[in-house]
Amino acid sequence: MNWRQDLGFDSETILVLDIACYFMECFFGCRNSNDLVNAYFEAYGKWATEDFIGHKLSWRMATEIYYCIALGGNRSDLRMWEIEKGWLKTPPDALAYMREHYWNREKNVDVPIPAYDVGDGWIQCSECCDVWQRMFGQNAYVCPNCGRHTVIKENTNEE
Ligand SMILES: [Zn+2]
Repeated sequence: MNWRQDLGFDSETILVLDIACYFMECFFGCRNSNDLVNAYFEAYGKWATEDFIGHKLSWRMATEIYYCIALGGNRSDLRMWEIEKGWLKTPPDALAYMREHYWNREKNVDVPIPAYDVGDGWIQCSECCDVWQRMFGQNAYVCPNCGRHTVIKENTNEE
């Protein structure tokens, strides 16, 4: 299988995965990242849709593919492993790479997008659905997953 051709992904999804390959090479020392992606889709193709990939984005696809395929880890243990390794948040170098090669290919990339208050002191990015902790008095944040600039948009159903 060749994931770039055989899965019918759109160009944006292929870009996200190409960058994930780059991250696996840079951060995890993988020399066969393309083979790992093929093996990943052979194993997990059912739920790894364009939407799924678009929400996870390149860093999280890289950690998931590396952990599940290269390390042979169980997908249900992925989050614990990410926490242990400190890889739950996208590393600054990876965010900078995303900004240059993914977000900055679009216009107005630095125009803030909404982030929503989801309760219990957490806010959620409207682009990638990542959540992070809200800080008192701060309304503008850089999303720790996708690196977009966000501004909190309050829920209108709160009193
Ligand atoms: Zn985001």
